[in-house]
Amino acid sequence: MLDQIRIVMIHTTHPGNIGAVARAMKNMGLVDLCLVSPKRFPDEEADARASGATDLLSSARVVSSLDEALEGCHLVVGTSARGRHIPWPVINPRQMAAVACELRPGKRMAILFGREDRGLTNEELHRCHHHVHIPTNPDFSSLNVAAAVQVVAYELRMALMEQQAGDQPQWGTDWDIDLADARETELLFGHLEKTLVDVEFLDPNNPRQLMTRLRRLFLRAVPDRVEVNVLRGFLSAIDRVVVRAAPDREVAEKSSEALDAAQKESGNV
Ligand code: SAH
Repeated sequence: MLDQIRIVMIHTTHPGNIGAVARAMKNMGLVDLCLVSPKRFPDEEADARASGATDLLSSARVVSSLDEALEGCHLVVGTSARGRHIPWPVINPRQMAAVACELRPGKRMAILFGREDRGLTNEELHRCHHHVHIPTNPDFSSLNVAAAVQVVAYELRMALMEQQAGDQPQWGTDWDIDLADARETELLFGHLEKTLVDVEFLDPNNPRQLMTRLRRLFLRAVPDRVEVNVLRGFLSAIDRVVVRAAPDREVAEKSSEALDAAQKESGNV
């Protein structure tokens, strides 16, 4: 989808902004940059601000009219820092990115960015299917044009990632270890409860919500199998110290064999 998006900068005054836009685009994977009558371009300042994205500047198309810039585009959106007199469908960058995701193969969408001082003219805005406004402080709503491109390009990338979410692992990252299954997790909680009673942190006659809160805490971390085993090993070490410290207490009845068996059951650390 990203190569179906054309960023169109209209009458940009500062070449540094063009360079910064090239950088923002390359960071987010956009490639198609079109400049309508830039004041100074090419320019050293643009190269400097592009950092490593000078290839995008070299491939940028410079044209003299909006018509030329929009050639081959099926959908046109114009970005604007403020409301206009005639209401127009206004969407935010996230909604715009969702629209972009629906582009059929081979279709293009142009996103227009205006002059640093005056933005887009009404005439230019009236060429657009939608207007895009980045939600801002209403008393200070105008972003630097390259910052506006950055926000829009980021939303496009995020939308693309979400579109591909079907292929993404459930927990947002390709985990190295399997998640603990329900049985392993229950063994951990059983073990935890027993140890907490033994160290007299949990009163079995007045348990309150302690185990519920601890369950919630551990489950929130979505532990994997090794993590559960580390915790059980840690509990077993406490159990052994408890047995040693108070051999006469009831806890001493738990032979260390039983503890070892419990540890083995969940796999050794
Ligand atoms: N005074 C101008 C501001 C221009 S800022 C105006 O009121 O339009 C230069 C360009 O950055 C704008 O034309 C637009 O393309 C983009 N931009 C700046 N702030 C924006 C915002 N809050 N939402 C969408 N685009 C914005």
